[in-house]
Amino acid sequence: MTASPAGAPPTGPAFSTLPLADHVLANLQRLGYEHMTPIQAASLPLALAGKDLIAQAKTGSGKTAAFTLPLLANLNPRRFAVQALVLCPTRELAEQVSQEIRRLARAEDNVKVLTLCGGATMRPQLASLAHGAHVVVGTPGRILDHLGRESLVLEALNTLVLDEADRMLDMGFADDIAAIAERCPPSSQRQTLLFSATYPDDVAKLAARYLHEPQEVKLTERHDASRIRQRFYEVKESERLHAVGLLLNHFRPESTLAFCNTKQQCRDLVAVLQAEGIVALELHGDLEQRERDQVLVQFANRSCSVLVATDVAARGLDIARLDAVINVDITPDAQVHTHRVGRTGRAGESGQAFSLASMDEMGRVGRIDEMQGSESVWHPLAELEAASAGDAASGPLRPPMVTLQILGGRKEKIRKGDVLGALTKDLGLDAACIGKIDVNDFSTYVAVRHDVAEQALRGLNAGKVKGRSVKVRRL
Ligand code: ADP
Ligand code: MG
Repeated sequence: MTASPAGAPPTGPAFSTLPLADHVLANLQRLGYEHMTPIQAASLPLALAGKDLIAQAKTGSGKTAAFTLPLLANLNPRRFAVQALVLCPTRELAEQVSQEIRRLARAEDNVKVLTLCGGATMRPQLASLAHGAHVVVGTPGRILDHLGRESLVLEALNTLVLDEADRMLDMGFADDIAAIAERCPPSSQRQTLLFSATYPDDVAKLAARYLHEPQEVKLTERHDASRIRQRFYEVKESERLHAVGLLLNHFRPESTLAFCNTKQQCRDLVAVLQAEGIVALELHGDLEQRERDQVLVQFANRSCSVLVATDVAARGLDIARLDAVINVDITPDAQVHTHRVGRTGRAGESGQAFSLASMDEMGRVGRIDEMQGSESVWHPLAELEAASAGDAASGPLRPPMVTLQILGGRKEKIRKGDVLGALTKDLGLDAACIGKIDVNDFSTYVAVRHDVAEQALRGLNAGKVKGRSVKVRRL
């Protein structure tokens, strides 16, 4: 998912204060990047001076540009060799990063950026590598695979980036990262940039091993209390899951991320919400990439109201618009709480955060208060019950859209316009009823408004897309 820099733009120093070439500055301006985000303002002067960096900042804070501009500054496009390697935990993130590097590299002539991730077939990757690339972005397993085959050579590398380092370690990539670093020039002869949303001990150890005299840039969050409204509710264990439904039906946020402390709690919550008629999906580490893509597509196109996840599963997710965050359980780590809550109300928009706490969790809430330097605000659960009984007519919260899956995608040469054409020209649907269209390799997902979903499903199944009959199902 790609976030749009919605809401208020960053207000840090202007990019023009940095030692960047004029054409790079002009390109930034074209992209709407005028002022730096806090992590960019803190890290770019150091990184552009060639220093190794440990940078910690929350998701959505603009870390990609913070390592891409230095990486591009180190690059010689006339030299046909891999000069920069960016390691990311998942294919999804690697693709987002590649896109952002391409956008930022537009000012240079012909910088080739290649994405190498597991799950994709080997042959096209080998062919692309044979053609040469300047920047490689990928997941550790697949990069190591290519190093083993010697299809990828890192002798000319001058920048190594570890993006989302905490998540890569959570996913068990420590050994792969070690093996990859061994194949790079020594740390004194390259620039190594490590980015992470959190800074636990194992990330510190990683940094000590692979970085050369690093500078540390940490932006511990303090979010704007006026933007994010936090409410706490005291619950008994037996009412916790039901309380989530009460919150949703009362406040009716369109997109909510609900955090649980365990996978089991995630599963239980999804079951309870679904039974209440709320469209909720679980995001967890055991999902296959294809299932994960489907979940994220449905959340982003507004056909799923609630994404339920553990902290590990949600880490690094780049979600543009979140109306609410619910802490179904209170996390034992106050900093994690701040991080969860900071997911809403991003980029100057307002957001709400709800936390459900049992008596046993009051000690944790105390630590959160201490860290936030403010007292938590409590509301009685009964407030929600009374209100929802009153407006029972409005029914359970429903997402505005429904996702239809067309079994056919890029491989069948389907494009967004083909789907839009089939729905508007052939079926006569108003374009306003049609939402986001995502074309993947083998599937296309189209969001349509509830009231036309049945008509669109029948019409597409009976008609043609790109001159061919297609199979369509409702997700
Ligand atoms: P992170 O890696 O910290 O999660 P990203 O690098 O993905 O964050 O950036 C989040 C969003 O903000 C992206 O859509 C990006 O294009 C946008 N963005 C980043 N820096 C700026 C800036 N200085 N001005 C405007 N938009 C920005
Ligand atoms: Mg990122």
